[in-house]
Amino acid sequence: MPGDALGQDPAELRRRIDTTKAHPARVYDVFLGGKDNYPVDRDAAAAALAANPRGYLDVRHNRDFLRRAVTTLAAQEGIRQFLDIGTGLPTQENVHQIAQRIAADSRVVYVDNDPVVLAHARALLTSGPEGRTDYIDADFKQPGQILEQAAKTLDLDEPVALVLVAILHFVEDEEAYPIVRRLVDALPSGSRLVLTHLTEDLNPENIRAVQRTYTERGFTFVLRSRAEVERFFTECGLEMDEPGVVPAHHWRPDGAAPAPEAADPARLAGLDDIEM
Ligand code: SAH
Repeated sequence: MPGDALGQDPAELRRRIDTTKAHPARVYDVFLGGKDNYPVDRDAAAAALAANPRGYLDVRHNRDFLRRAVTTLAAQEGIRQFLDIGTGLPTQENVHQIAQRIAADSRVVYVDNDPVVLAHARALLTSGPEGRTDYIDADFKQPGQILEQAAKTLDLDEPVALVLVAILHFVEDEEAYPIVRRLVDALPSGSRLVLTHLTEDLNPENIRAVQRTYTERGFTFVLRSRAEVERFFTECGLEMDEPGVVPAHHWRPDGAAPAPEAADPARLAGLDDIEM
């Protein structure tokens, strides 16, 4: 049931948290060295890392892309509103912290369908007084609901950056393309689409092996080529900013990307008990 983070019944929330199977947000949390994960998630992360040993660096590149994209939009393009679907568990630098450092009046609406993210959503509701944040417990596949609730915090007559970072591989084509279009169509001109996606264009054997570790665990896990990623933009009639679709760490690097040694799995708290 979609709902407001602040209105959740803790017992209902506990009931919704399934610790018998891995969840994408928690597996991602393992990769980032977080603590909000369970043994099944750590097993899934270990399997994915065995398939693609540089996965721990890829997630940092992904997260650092998000930082640069939000920074660019806020500092150079004057974007003051963000709709971040597939937020993940709160981490050190969430979208509102990045955006509000540049413009204190930035507004951010977070959306995720994972009850563990909901349980930690208060950490996302820490807007400075001049801005606003909200959290919506909803599925990407409920765009109407998302837009209706987002409109309570965002002014949908003003430009919005739609942030779909590392979520679309969990959605099949039949839903992914039309829903992105539906969301983009609801936003006014001057709005932006920011996304990352796992691809098998690079490193195909390892990435296909990663895909198998996810599908074996019952996840939808779609790999898309560069052309298929570009289609998200062209189908919405959007023109891509330079440099277009590139490996995440090649998108406007600013010299602050994570150093490989900083991402050494041996240093990650959440990976302590993973055998590699
Ligand atoms: N965007 C963040 C987190 C990516 S992890 C980042 O890039 O750092 C992917 C997130 O998408 C997880 O939190 C997962 O719970 C969420 N997610 C996956 N499928 C979803 C869906 N159908 N609706 C909403 N959220 C979804």
